[in-house]
Parts: sequence; structure tokens; C-alpha cells
Amino acid sequence: MPMKKRKSKKKDSQFLEILAAKARKSPAFDSKASLLEQVLENLLSEGEDRPELARSVMEGLMKDFVDWNEARVSAADRIVPHFSALKDPEYKAKAVQALLGKIFSRSGSLEHQFLIDMETEALEDYLAGIMELREDTRKNLMLRVMNRPTLPITARHEIILERVGTMFTLGDEQIKKTLLEHPPAVLDGIKNLLDTVLDKYCLDAPRCARCPLKPVCVYSEDHG
Ligand code: SF4
Repeated sequence: MPMKKRKSKKKDSQFLEILAAKARKSPAFDSKASLLEQVLENLLSEGEDRPELARSVMEGLMKDFVDWNEARVSAADRIVPHFSALKDPEYKAKAVQALLGKIFSRSGSLEHQFLIDMETEALEDYLAGIMELREDTRKNLMLRVMNRPTLPITARHEIILERVGTMFTLGDEQIKKTLLEHPPAVLDGIKNLLDTVLDKYCLDAPRCARCPLKPVCVYSEDHG
């Protein structure tokens, strides 16, 4: 049976209001570190229950390699073991090397001031050009480290939109405009909330009783 959809845009805006109200900022990264180190730490902490592990992996890398450039060019069998305490170590090792490689290819160094200077749209395109970076990783970097507004809803969240019963889609320009009126910290909180709802409650068989989106969710209404 097709999923029931809400009939009014007003309901959609209530859904967005709940997201924004429940949004919580992620833990801050070490603001004394360089932007590059903050980017790498954010990437390594993605999906981790204990984000502090990312910092200890970074410290281990810096003990074993002369600098990030050596890590960039090292063979997988030398670099991947450093990531073994993290979830998805091979992806994270590849993503780090690809990111460093992309920065290096611009000027033959890891100087990255240009990332700070880039317009938001250009930065989004730049990160999208690194095939090894998942969409989620790119959004996290934009929102958490680079403090840029970007749409916090990704393709993996579509199942939530459908179950909640929203009328909008990822291509909906009005929703995009409404969401992007929020500052990056709130957008980051919205993404966190959607990630939590998806991974903890909604993926596979929904467990609605404790889900924070229950008050606005059509699926939950229909399935008790
Ligand atoms: S209330 Fe249930 S169906 Fe709705 S988003 Fe939460 S877990 Fe998914």
C-alpha cells in the first residue's frame, strides 16, 4: 500500500520547525588545530560513538609519519592499520588520502587557505569532485568545520521523509530555501537528529515509541 502523504505544506513546515527545535550541535573540534587537522579529525570521527578516538588516531599518525604529506603518499597497507580502531577504516584511510591528494594537486603543497576563501557553492563543488568522499562526509565537513550552510538532508534520509509523510523532496527549492535560512550550527544539528532517527529508530522496522519525530509522523499515527 502506498505511503500516506500529508495534504498541507503547513504540516511540512511543522516538521521543519520540530527538526530545528530539536537540533543539537555536535561536539566542537579542537579550534586551536589548523583547518586541515579539523577537517581530518571530523572525517575520522564520522559515525563514531566515541569521537575522541579520532584524535588519538591522528596523534598516532603524526608519530608514525613525518607529516601529512607522507601519509598522503603512503601505501594502503601502511596507513590503513592506523585506522583500525575506527569504524570503516578502509573508507576513512582512502578518504583522507584523496582529500590530501586533491589539496596537494592545486599547488604542490598542503597549503589550504583557498578552502577558507572559496564561496560556499564552489566549495560544495570542490568537495563533490573528490569521488572517495561520501555525501555524508562532505555535508559534515561543510557544516561542522567550515561553518557553511548546506542542505542537511541527504539521499539516505529519504526514507524518513517518506515515513513522516512530508510532501517535499530533496529537489524542492522552497524547502531548501527555508532550511538554509538556519545557521550552519542548526543545520548540523538537524543532520545529527536525522542521522540518529535513521540509525537508531527508523531504519528497517521502525521503533516509533521513543523517536523524537513521532509527534509529526504519519507512519507512526497509522501504525500506533
Ligand atoms: S516515528 Fe517511526 S516511522 Fe516516524 S520517523 Fe520515527 S521511527 Fe520513523
